[in-house]
Amino acid sequence: MSTADFYRHLQAELDATREAGLYKTERIIATPQGAVIRTTDGREVINLCANNYLGLSSHPRVIEAAQAALRTHGYGLSSVRFICGTQDLHKQLEARLSRFLGTEDTILYAAAFDANGGLFEPLLGEQDAVISDALNHASIIDGIRLCKARRYRYEHNNLEDLERCLEQARADGARFMVVFTDGAFSMDGTIAQLDRIREITDRYGALLGIDECHATGFLGRNGRGTHEFRGLLQGGRCGVDIITGTLGKALGGASGGFTSGRREVIELLRQRSRPYLFSNTLAPVIAGASIAVLDLLEASTELRDKLEANTRHFRMAIAKAGFEIKPGDHPIVPIMVYDAAKAQQLSARLLELGIYAIGFFYPVVPKGQARIRVQLSAVHEREHLDAAVAAFVKAGRELGLV
Ligand SMILES: *Cc1c(COP(=O)(O)O)cnc(C)c1O
Repeated sequence: MSTADFYRHLQAELDATREAGLYKTERIIATPQGAVIRTTDGREVINLCANNYLGLSSHPRVIEAAQAALRTHGYGLSSVRFICGTQDLHKQLEARLSRFLGTEDTILYAAAFDANGGLFEPLLGEQDAVISDALNHASIIDGIRLCKARRYRYEHNNLEDLERCLEQARADGARFMVVFTDGAFSMDGTIAQLDRIREITDRYGALLGIDECHATGFLGRNGRGTHEFRGLLQGGRCGVDIITGTLGKALGGASGGFTSGRREVIELLRQRSRPYLFSNTLAPVIAGASIAVLDLLEASTELRDKLEANTRHFRMAIAKAGFEIKPGDHPIVPIMVYDAAKAQQLSARLLELGIYAIGFFYPVVPKGQARIRVQLSAVHEREHLDAAVAAFVKAGRELGLV
């Protein structure tokens, strides 16, 4: 086989992806992130699909802090953390995240994908067991693949099946057992039953870790995350063993991730976690801006309160309009269409009507479970939400959905 054959092979793969209707295109945006965005063809649309939960991606205080950090700490560090890539800003941000989450220490990464990718291998060996929710994020799956521990997978959100896995791991002679789950799941908006999972892990002497990418900053009364939402954060102590999270969603939306937890865990990750040791440090601009984000969130719950009110308003209005949604409390609102072609038609029609909301279908969700996923934000005003519901109703009627 020649190199020309190789490129033909790749082209055939691309063609097959397109034919299967799975080809992803990128829509190009010409504005900062916000409630209303403009695409490069000049159209203004209400954005219902960003992870900009608190509206901090373009918040003036965050931009100001980023500019200040740029002036005082430079653009880049040109180093990994342990050589010459650690500034006071990085240490401050780690301490602030620990306080916010109720943990002992925090380690920063370039992305949450790296936090999960570099988490399991340094901590667990072949005598150990990882027990993972079937719908956990791809980065958790990859991170677990990189470690030698035995793997067990429980049905999504099914606690009986979780116990079956723990029994099995114990019977297999596991030394340490770690249960790991998304705090909030991105496709369904399900919030993990963390209080009950903690009760089970305690009974089995297992550790509990959560990925808080769709939770940190807004779930729980003070926005600390799923542990607060489920009543585990008590007396400032987080109640779980490990928390991973992102700076790229609610907490400003640039990029960056972290792992937070017990001092021993974080210390060992600093020694052995490969994405930390072999990849560049988080840009000072992001570290500085993230500290300003935590200042905002610790000073007031206004933003997460508004997000909560928006979520309640939209969920009620869209259900009243006759759409079927996955019930719950999360600002991720899956509007069920079931049929993949219909979901695509609905998304396309919504765009014509000025509403940017994406359809999800197989293989991102199971076959026959196609949906439009709406994500609410504190930047949305009531008029945005009401305009969105009106567009859903119009498009839904045309397609015979309501
Ligand atoms: C978005 C997301 C990630 C990846 O976060 P990045 O910081 O963008 O790498 C990891 N886990 C979950 C659950 C996510 O939703």
